[in-house]
Amino acid sequence: MRFSKSYIKTLKETPKEAEIASHKLLLRAGMIKKLTSGVYTYLPLGLKALKKVENIVRREMDRAGAQEIFMPVLQPAELWKESGRWEVMGPLMMKLQDRAKRDFVLGPTHEEVVTDVIRNDVASYKQLPLNLYQIQTKFRDEIRPRFGLMRGREFIMKDAYSFHATRESLDEEFDNMEATYKRIFSSCGLKFRPVEADSGAIGGSGSKEFHVLADSGEDEIIYCESCDYAANVETAVSKVFHAEKEELKAVELVDTPNVSKIEDVVEYLKVPVERTVKAMMYRDMGTDQVYMVLIRGDYEVNETKLKNAVDAIEVELLTDEQLEKLGLVKGFIGPFGIDLGDIKVVADDTVLEITNHTAGGNKIDTHYINVNYGRDYKADIVADIRKVRVGDNCITGGKLHSARGIECGQIFKLGDKYSKAMNATYLDENGKTQYMLMGCYGIGVTRTMAAAIEQNNDENGIIWPVSIAPYIVDVIPANIKNEGQVSLAEKIYNELQAENVDVMLDDRDEKPGFKFKDADLIGFPFKVVVGKRADEGIVEVKIRKTGETLEVSESEVVAKIKELMKLY
Ligand code: ATP
Ligand code: MG
Repeated sequence: MRFSKSYIKTLKETPKEAEIASHKLLLRAGMIKKLTSGVYTYLPLGLKALKKVENIVRREMDRAGAQEIFMPVLQPAELWKESGRWEVMGPLMMKLQDRAKRDFVLGPTHEEVVTDVIRNDVASYKQLPLNLYQIQTKFRDEIRPRFGLMRGREFIMKDAYSFHATRESLDEEFDNMEATYKRIFSSCGLKFRPVEADSGAIGGSGSKEFHVLADSGEDEIIYCESCDYAANVETAVSKVFHAEKEELKAVELVDTPNVSKIEDVVEYLKVPVERTVKAMMYRDMGTDQVYMVLIRGDYEVNETKLKNAVDAIEVELLTDEQLEKLGLVKGFIGPFGIDLGDIKVVADDTVLEITNHTAGGNKIDTHYINVNYGRDYKADIVADIRKVRVGDNCITGGKLHSARGIECGQIFKLGDKYSKAMNATYLDENGKTQYMLMGCYGIGVTRTMAAAIEQNNDENGIIWPVSIAPYIVDVIPANIKNEGQVSLAEKIYNELQAENVDVMLDDRDEKPGFKFKDADLIGFPFKVVVGKRADEGIVEVKIRKTGETLEVSESEVVAKIKELMKLY
């Protein structure tokens, strides 16, 4: 491509709405253009990078034995009603009606459609297992579309769905996809980490997320310094050390004037924080059931774990007004000495290990001391609902650390959730009807492209990994009026093109400094500068990532570039 003919419009100023590097740089380098909130056009440079990510994904999915299909964006409501998700997904779905007033949705994901595709055609265990995938536009009416391609309302996803006759077969494909995802993200040149993820009500080791590591990442991931354990903070677990067990003492109500925060309780009553229990009041937003959630004073409630423990779709803390309505005294709520009525109690499992703990007195400015689970109160549900703290011990003993990540992919064992709801069955070896088992596997293709920039940039612009760079080389004649320089630049440009290297020739009549700035912003991994020594047949090869400059003889440029392409 010749720069002079290309449709590339770089910007000097950073558009105000952009907060993170990838968003700023995608706009500044003229790779994307916003149409409306969370909706973008991919301009030539952006589209080229996107296609490279797509092609890596496609190559590795094909290699893994999956088969590409292409499903409709427009999906009838009936399918979603059948699976039960028409209501559950609620406002996240972009819904519309046709002229006959029939309801439709623009697909936010394709479990329903793919299950419908296979349910009438796959009849026997002999046709299984099967893994079908597509690379396609998804629509999600996100509450806060932001950060450019990171969280769009229209974005591109690779979604794959597998169907199985046995658990072992599903497990095998899950492992196959995990290995495939590792190859995909490595091929994209990214530093990433697979972590255990929330698998909702399914539980177990049913889901993994793939996080591209970057400080601006929206997710917190927890990892062990001495073993392989890594998990999204939403599901991470740790080992808790308890205070030594004591003989049970008699409960006493004590005055704690203006002392409601745990730190203050600890200080005022001179008790170790390991012997305190706090009560948080939550509501299941679906059923309206209220829960008193008990947790050791030095831990926080992990709402994802709580949701799973009470089987809720969403939970929220009660407001002061709601607390008052229930006759609860904010700051002094506890499980002892209270008539709970319809309120259910959820206790974090560590609470059961604490002897003689403090708890709210259920009257203003009071606490109980020496309260004991079992003797003084009981919970309806006991589960691990705590948020892991950095510095906690891993189950295997190492210290837990945290890092920020961008969730670029997720793999999931769905089991028979959709096949049951949508009656996708097959006949097993004994001629018996069975529900298929399913897995699903997503990669945010556009998000991965943004994450690559988030991980690879500096104050001058993008530093594309070679494998997904829109163009790998920018050939720049320093002085466009110098015939020798121009003809050598043209020659190198043609040679690289002949070798199938994606190359740009910056043939614009601009100062070299101006062209270098654009080149750095756009993020070509390598620049070939044809300057003063052109007449001796010497050119400069500049490496974007390291800032190094190599003097190379013109006859060796192609070989040098090919060698460098293997390294970056
Ligand atoms: P998130 O938690 O970030 O909202 P998700 O878990 O809902 O994402 P999945 O349903 O797992 O997303 O979708 C698979 C992949 O699609 C994600 O791992 C992510 O890379 C990508 N993705 C999801 N939502 C968006 C979005 N709004 N914009 C861009 N990519 C997205
Ligand atoms: Mg996800």
